[in-house]
Amino acid sequence: MARLVMKFGGTSVADIERIRNVARHVKREIDAGHEVAVVVSAMSGATNRLVEWCREASVLHDAREYDAVVASGEQITSGLLAISLQAIGIAARSWQGWQLPIITSDAHASARILSVNGAELMRRLHECKEVAVISGFQGIHPQSGRITTLGRGGSDTSAVAVAAAIGADRCDIYTDVDGVYTTDPRVVPKARRLDRISFEEMLELASQGAKVLQVRSVELGMVHQVPIFVRSSFDSPDSIDPHKYPPGTLICDEEELVEQHVVTGIAFSKDEAQISIRRVQDKPGVAANIFGPLADANINVDMIVQNVSADGATTDLTFTVPAADFERAKETIAAAKAQIGYERLDGATDVTKVSVIGVGMRSHAGVAAKAFRSLADRGINIRAITTSEIKFSLLIDSAYTELAVRTLHSLYGLDKS
Ligand code: ASP
Ligand code: MG
Repeated sequence: MARLVMKFGGTSVADIERIRNVARHVKREIDAGHEVAVVVSAMSGATNRLVEWCREASVLHDAREYDAVVASGEQITSGLLAISLQAIGIAARSWQGWQLPIITSDAHASARILSVNGAELMRRLHECKEVAVISGFQGIHPQSGRITTLGRGGSDTSAVAVAAAIGADRCDIYTDVDGVYTTDPRVVPKARRLDRISFEEMLELASQGAKVLQVRSVELGMVHQVPIFVRSSFDSPDSIDPHKYPPGTLICDEEELVEQHVVTGIAFSKDEAQISIRRVQDKPGVAANIFGPLADANINVDMIVQNVSADGATTDLTFTVPAADFERAKETIAAAKAQIGYERLDGATDVTKVSVIGVGMRSHAGVAAKAFRSLADRGINIRAITTSEIKFSLLIDSAYTELAVRTLHSLYGLDKS
């Protein structure tokens, strides 16, 4: 017997038929003797619509009311799944974030989970033999009593937090793909599904643009040692052996990886913008004068490249920001021009960040050098480079995204045969 959290994403609960299908997935695990708690997303498209309604009502809206509105999508699916489970003879009860409760910070629209009442869930499981169907994405800030939400994609994080709170053996993430791939299969048809990937690699993949899981959920899994299993909800619920692993990807500790590759996956993000500040004064305090105002404006700066100046007087400084913040970032820099001291601002939004990830990079030299050569051979120019222990990222022209990702995918032996 295992204790499981089963999380179902928006496409898996997109209509009543699919919710019934989800109920059969849950029944299968219960019948096999497992203890189960379920976490659900809103029906696909529902949250987008709710967000849009808030904007329509007023472009500048109160974040507390935004949360009150957008949290409602999950309330609907948790109730509908509880009904569907009851209809096939499984005792079930829906739980909203405020009822359990799932305690969060008061950062509305991007709240962090502080604690989950696992004891109440365990009591329900044992005494009432009842499946808890929990609304993902939402919680409560106890001091204000207000409903909060965790940021887009946040029900993954709810699921892993619940799994940690009840000491689950595994958190199964049922989604519209059957696992984590070496890269996006829509761009590289030869992408392979990974059987396993380490938390650290998954954290990099997710933060660098792979959209399978919310980054925070992987962080939580790593901290609380909850293995996360990404699998498809479209497999027929009744043809799966609940005692075996079906196709999918297990996100686990590095020690549990069976085969070690130097490179595990390639992520890319087109939502990047590049800003270059020309002929910045090369003296102490300038970087602080640039990045201080950007931080105050809540703009996330990612890659930063600065040259050592030749004349000792001025240099160029390039950095990237999310494309959505491009205009705001330029305005922020221009407003601080007097303190910074520079000649010209250049920018581009038709850029893509390609990231190559693998724990094997820790012990192998020359991994990035190979990439530079083969991209050069294809005439792809690199605008900026950053590296970390298990990753390097390259900023290139968006027009070359597909070519670059495919080239690197085969270069590092990731193509399926
Ligand atoms: N429904 C929320 C969203 O669309 C949360 C989630 O699906 O994870 O972002
Ligand atoms: Mg999601």
